[in-house]
Amino acid sequence: MKLFDVYPLFDINIVSGKGCYTYDTEGTEYLDLYGGHAVISVGHTHPYYTEKLTEQAHKLIFYSNSVINDLQIKLAEKLGRISGYDDYSLFLINSGAEANENALKLASFHTGKKKVIAFRKAFHGRTSAAVKVTDNPKIVAPINDTFEVVFPELNDFETVEQEINKGDVCAVIIEGIQGVGGIQIPNPGFLQKIRQLCTRHGVVLILDEVQSGYGRSGKFFAHQHAGIRPDIITMAKGMGNGFPVGGLIISPMFTPSYGLLGTTFGGNHLACTAASAVLDIIENENLIENAARVGSYLKTELEKLPQIKEVRGEGLMLGLVFEQPSTELRKKLLYEQKVFTGASGTNVIRLLPPLILTTQQAEEFIKRLKKIL
Ligand code: PMP
Repeated sequence: MKLFDVYPLFDINIVSGKGCYTYDTEGTEYLDLYGGHAVISVGHTHPYYTEKLTEQAHKLIFYSNSVINDLQIKLAEKLGRISGYDDYSLFLINSGAEANENALKLASFHTGKKKVIAFRKAFHGRTSAAVKVTDNPKIVAPINDTFEVVFPELNDFETVEQEINKGDVCAVIIEGIQGVGGIQIPNPGFLQKIRQLCTRHGVVLILDEVQSGYGRSGKFFAHQHAGIRPDIITMAKGMGNGFPVGGLIISPMFTPSYGLLGTTFGGNHLACTAASAVLDIIENENLIENAARVGSYLKTELEKLPQIKEVRGEGLMLGLVFEQPSTELRKKLLYEQKVFTGASGTNVIRLLPPLILTTQQAEEFIKRLKKIL
C-alpha cells in the first residue's frame, strides 16, 4: 500500500533527535528551528520526558473515560497553576482541530446561536467546523454548514462590532498569534476591546493557542501579553512535545453536563503523562523566560540583517518577512546549512524552535542564515 500523497516532502528521513538537533539516516545533524511545527516544546527526547513516558508505558497506556483517571486530575491542577487559569476547567482531546471543534460546539450550545467571527488568514484546523472558520484558499471549501462564518481583517474592530450588534453571533475565535497566516499579532488594544464587547453581548471569546501557547510567546499563552481572559482557550502542539494531546480550558461560566462533550482517546494515560512531564520541564527549566529572552535576542539580531524586510512575532514564534518568495532560501537553509525552518505564506520563514534553544544556538542559526543571504 502506498501513502495518500497530500504532503510535499523534503527527501530527508529524520530518525532521531536530541535537544534542538535532529539526525537523518546518514547521521547528518540538523539544527531544528522548526520543532516539528511548534510541537517540540521541551526538546527532542528530553531525558525526563522520555523516562516518564517509558515508565507509564510499562504501567498502563489507556483505559477509558468511564473510570477515574487521576493523571487527568493532576494534570488539570498543574496546568491551572502554571497557566494562571486555576478557576477554569480542563477538557482533554487529541489535536488542535478537535479542540477548536469542541470549543465552537460549546459556544453554540451555550448561546443557542451559530454565527462565528473568525479572521482573515486565520487557521484553526481540519475538522469540518474548524475548516469552516479558516479563511485559507488552499483549504477545500467546507462541507459542514453548521456554522455561518464572517471573516473581518485582523484588528478591524469596527466590522467585529457591526456583526456582533446584529445579535446572532455565538463566538469570536482568534489565534493568540496567527501562525499559518504569516505570524501576525492581534493588537493588545483590539483584544481588550473584543473582550469587553463579547462580555457585553454574551458572545463566547475563544482564543486558539494551539500554536502560540505553552510558553512559546514568552508568556504561557500569547493572549496574556494583552492581559485579557478568554472564555475558552484551545491548545495542542507543544502540549505533549510530540505525543498527540490537545485540550480546552473552559471558563466557569459554562456548566458541564453528562454527554455534552465526549471522546474515546482524549486524556489517555500516556497523553496525560506526556503533558504533565512537559509542564514539569517548562517550570523546572524556566522555559517561558528562556523563550522570551532567546526570542528577543534572535529578533534583535535578525532585524539587523538588511535582506530581511521585517521580523514579526513574539518569543520563539518569529516570522522573517522577505520582499521575495522565501522557498529557495528555506531549501538552502536545509540542504546547505542543515537548518530546519518553517514557512508561512510565500514570503515568510517561520521559526518555531524548541523552547530550550540557547543563545549560542540562536547565534549559530544567524551565522548559517547569513551565509546564504
Ligand atoms: N489552530 C492553529 C492555530 C494551528 O496552527 C493548527 C495547526 N497548524 C491547528 C489549529 C490545528 O491543529 P491540528 O493539526 O493538531 O489539528
